Amino acid sequence: MKEIIVIGGGLAGCEAALQIAKRKISVKLYEMKPVKFSEAHSNKNLAEIVCSNSFKSNLITNACGLLKEELRMLGSELIPIADKVKVPARTSFSC
Ligand SMILES: Cc1cc2nc3c(=O)[nH]c(=O)nc-3n(C[C@H](O)[C@H](O)[C@H](O)COP(=O)(O)OP(=O)(O)OC[C@H]3O[C@@H](n4cnc5c(N)ncnc54)[C@H](O)[C@@H]3O)c2cc1C
Repeated sequence: MKEIIVIGGGLAGCEAALQIAKRKISVKLYEMKPVKFSEAHSNKNLAEIVCSNSFKSNLITNACGLLKEELRMLGSELIPIADKVKVPARTSFSC
């Protein structure tokens, strides 16, 4: 049986693992936390947003907003969760 291994449960690894599972392909996600932390990470959970907890602007007139809109259009699993839990921060998109 085909199985894909994803190393690292950050935003990219979690999105990748969910996309693989959505396509009914067996996937194993390996995350080193909480056994070992990088210098940038402090939260023991998966999909940690490092630093300010902000995904920045949702405006598609800038690169951050455009990237997120492209992810929504491509069926991202994580961006809709972030959309649900966002809090107002002027043009920023924080969760
Ligand atoms: C100081 C700092 C501040 C930042 N501030 C922001 C911000 O305010 N807003 C923003 O949008 N972005 C910010 N970023 C960028 C953001 O953190 C990254 O874009 C995002 O986390 C990248 O996600 P990723 O999944 O690619 O990598 P990461 O989040 O780094 O995830 C990699 C995961 O892999 C795990 N891992 C690594 N090696 C192994 C291994 N050998 N085995 C198992 N697991 C492993 C790690 O523990 C981690 O969980 C910041 C980054 C830094 C360094």
